[in-house]
Amino acid sequence: CGIVGVLGNHEAAPILVEALKRLEYRGYDSAGIATVNNARLDRRRAVGKLVNLSDLLVHEPLAGKAGIGHTRWATHGVPNVGNAHPHRAGGVAVVHNGIVENFRELRAYLAEAGIGFETDTDTETVALLAQHFCDQGHSPVDAAAKTIAMLAGAYALCFLFDGHDDLLIAARKGSPLAIGYGDGEMFVGSDAIALAPMTDKISYLEEGDWAVITRTSVEIRDSHGTIANREIRTINIDT
Ligand code: GLU
Repeated sequence: CGIVGVLGNHEAAPILVEALKRLEYRGYDSAGIATVNNARLDRRRAVGKLVNLSDLLVHEPLAGKAGIGHTRWATHGVPNVGNAHPHRAGGVAVVHNGIVENFRELRAYLAEAGIGFETDTDTETVALLAQHFCDQGHSPVDAAAKTIAMLAGAYALCFLFDGHDDLLIAARKGSPLAIGYGDGEMFVGSDAIALAPMTDKISYLEEGDWAVITRTSVEIRDSHGTIANREIRTINIDT
């Protein structure tokens, strides 16, 4: 129900949890974060309040300056740790708000390729597809683009890749998503409120947009694949 992403110059975990706290008002049943540290992707997830995730992170810290986070409002699959986001398939981690309406077709497509699934969620298919295309030799950006093109339904998505600590891919269709511009840092969030402690420079993805984000660049494309310019506004929100 809430999404955040960070390509920062500080430890990402506390920033992600703080940003998720600012999205609590949307409601959620579980939460999780993933980071890339020394090129290695890892994740932590917990059912219930964000304090459960914070507690877990005290005992099992997650280092790294690049990461994604999620608060889940389950639509497909009960609220448990296995169904909590980020979902992971091999070297791809994904957070998702919304519903992948064609997940049954996507599962059938994956099954044909010999790929099974481990969760009850619609979202897992997104991670599996992206990893599938990476396995076929596609770059993370191309794998994500091919995946996004196959999705029907409503989504805000953010991808993080093993071995890539300066890359996030974000996409929006039917669920809002904002990009926050820092000083050599970039952020993604369901809304500007989540990002207010980090930056007040915000652009919103429009329907069908997807963005390739590094610490120093944001390249947004519209649903036709054309480079799109989305105005960066300075937003005034009390922190
Ligand atoms: N449909 C996804 C799930 O049930 C995402 C739900 C959400 O928006 O939090 O896991």
